[in-house]
Amino acid sequence: MHEMSICEGVVLSLESEAQKQNFQKVKKVWLTVGIFSGVEIDALRFGWDVVTRNSIADGAELVVLEEQGQAWCMGCSKHVQIENRYDDCPACGSHRLQVTGGEILSIKEIEVE
Ligand SMILES: [Zn+2]
Repeated sequence: MHEMSICEGVVLSLESEAQKQNFQKVKKVWLTVGIFSGVEIDALRFGWDVVTRNSIADGAELVVLEEQGQAWCMGCSKHVQIENRYDDCPACGSHRLQVTGGEILSIKEIEVE
């Protein structure tokens, strides 16, 4: 499962942060997940519980912040919001859109002890 390895990556970066910043436990993690990142949030939550067990983030709460899809339209030179990666521009109907938001997956914030 794709989401499982994402959770493993998150735990790894938490562990290296813990060494740098000298904390022992992570209580809460805010994760920004773009709607085009291909991540299933339910699967992510499931993976989180499994992967964090006996790790520095054991029992940590996972808060998922969804990032909306955004694009730059070359047709009308506007930033527009889109729901699907291959949507046409909602303002002018052009399909020359460059996706500028909604693809990331990153740790936004952590609460530690
Ligand atoms: Zn447009």
